[in-house]
Amino acid sequence: MSAGSALLNPMEAATGEPREAPLRDSLRDSYGRAITDLRVSVTDRCNYRCVYCRTGNDGAQYAELAIADYLRMIRLFVSLGIEKVRLTGGEPLLRAGLLDLVREVAQLRTVSGAPLDVALTTNGHLLADLAQPLKDAGLCRVTVSMDAVDAETFAAITRVPRSFERVLAGIRAATAAGLGPVKVNCVLLRGFNDSQIEAFAEFSRREGVIVRFIEWMPLEEPSADGIGRNWTREAVVTLDEIVSRLQAYRPLLELPPHAASETARRYTFDDGVGEIGIVAPVSRPFCGHCSRIRLTSDGKIRTCLFSQTEHDLQGKMLRGSSDLELRAYIKGIVDKKEARHHIGEPDFQKPSRSMVHIGG
Ligand code: SF4
Repeated sequence: MSAGSALLNPMEAATGEPREAPLRDSLRDSYGRAITDLRVSVTDRCNYRCVYCRTGNDGAQYAELAIADYLRMIRLFVSLGIEKVRLTGGEPLLRAGLLDLVREVAQLRTVSGAPLDVALTTNGHLLADLAQPLKDAGLCRVTVSMDAVDAETFAAITRVPRSFERVLAGIRAATAAGLGPVKVNCVLLRGFNDSQIEAFAEFSRREGVIVRFIEWMPLEEPSADGIGRNWTREAVVTLDEIVSRLQAYRPLLELPPHAASETARRYTFDDGVGEIGIVAPVSRPFCGHCSRIRLTSDGKIRTCLFSQTEHDLQGKMLRGSSDLELRAYIKGIVDKKEARHHIGEPDFQKPSRSMVHIGG
């Protein structure tokens, strides 16, 4: 399709990115994007109070559902074409019944009969004891959120003493259990932990983990205590800055993406040791290939991290809707998925929930 022609499909028009023709009847939005990646928050509780995330009230603000309810919802989405299920929180390892949920989800098959890709995002504090049981239950991969690789800075960010050692033990246990390569997500804030970039590169090479630097997004809770951080564009450490810092540390080689919908740009070093990903939603948005949809801990569907509205799937289930009706409901919602975020634009509006209450 030639650029500028009226034949451009809506997503090409919205983002200017080329699109391939739809492959088969799967969960697609009105821009032709296949929605194959479901993220499910199984609790709003967390045992950390990270300064750029849970900056307001401490406790859970949203309910959590019975494990059986999440399982029914996940089954519905998988029957519509979901191929990856990521369990998140708050902190999912706090959730009783998590192992049972992983076991049940791992037995599901995609519409083409393939095993599901079942992953989990955790802060790692409880991972050392749970890594092997999660693997045995059928978990495929684990991502650990970690914003510093020295104990002092780590404790200052999480506001939990001696947390670094626990998380490091969790990462090593996950690697040993075969849940690797473990991904380590680090949200960079200028003047707070951007001094850690080279140390994280070293950590990736030493521990054999994939370190992913994430540009800070305006998804924080408004800071109530004056300690927490409110998002500013200036505080974002961009992909270009991270790459030039890493190049100065050691020559960097870009790696090809695993899939068009992959959010991270991948790199390794000249000797092939270590892998770095950079997720740049602010400076290099990737909405054009977005394949994600989310379920909140209280059973609401969010079609985008920055959605202003949510859709009450739990409510429809409680009112007795059949699976057929619920599938039609989900397809209708996906059809209206937002084209993209508007960070940094005059009409940008903060989402109706902060990240800790969405789950990533
Ligand atoms: S901002 Fe929304 S549309 Fe863009 S990648 Fe994230 S979830 Fe997808």
